[in-house]
Amino acid sequence: MNESALREEIVRFGRSLFDRGLTAGSTGNISVRLDDGWLLTPTNACLGNLDPARLAKLDWQGRSISGDAPSKEAFLHRSLYEERQDAGAIVHLHSTHSAAVSCMSGLDHANCLPPLTAYFVMKISRLPLVPYYRPGDPALGVAIKGLAGKHSAVLLANHGPVVSGSSLEAAVYATEELEETAKLFLLLRNTATSPLNNAQIEELKTVFKLDF
Ligand SMILES: [Zn+2]
Repeated sequence: MNESALREEIVRFGRSLFDRGLTAGSTGNISVRLDDGWLLTPTNACLGNLDPARLAKLDWQGRSISGDAPSKEAFLHRSLYEERQDAGAIVHLHSTHSAAVSCMSGLDHANCLPPLTAYFVMKISRLPLVPYYRPGDPALGVAIKGLAGKHSAVLLANHGPVVSGSSLEAAVYATEELEETAKLFLLLRNTATSPLNNAQIEELKTVFKLDF
């Protein structure tokens, strides 16, 4: 896909996520890897109303090439791209159910959502929790880097998910799967549940060639 088609795709998915209430106000940001840098949604932009010509284009040192000023959360994206050469796109949202889970105490920090469905296992696998850091703290980027080699997605405590994918479509769909699983997890909090067992997860890993 060429750069102008990728710009249009960011706008299309941004509008879709915003219209369905998956991110509110000017929160959330989307990025896509290019041959000569990367595209990121601008600072204070509403994902429901993006302009393809004004997306921030950056180089791998984080310098602006063109477009509006990038999201202040650019470093979250860069940290993940640097560790995951297969990542073609990244979605970061403050989606309600995932953000709610990120505020809970007593989570397993290595894997904070249970394998409730096969689709969650296939799209996210394991979801580590990154400890809380204030917005803009460079230590958050370091913490993400430490986990990104092994995980395509992470959940930032008291904040929300950061999800990579081979394409923007893959990253968006994985983000939505994570949000739906967080919703199920919250719905089932006071109900005895049967998550997938180890044998069922191993079967998925074998049949679908999952690497985690
Ligand atoms: Zn954020």
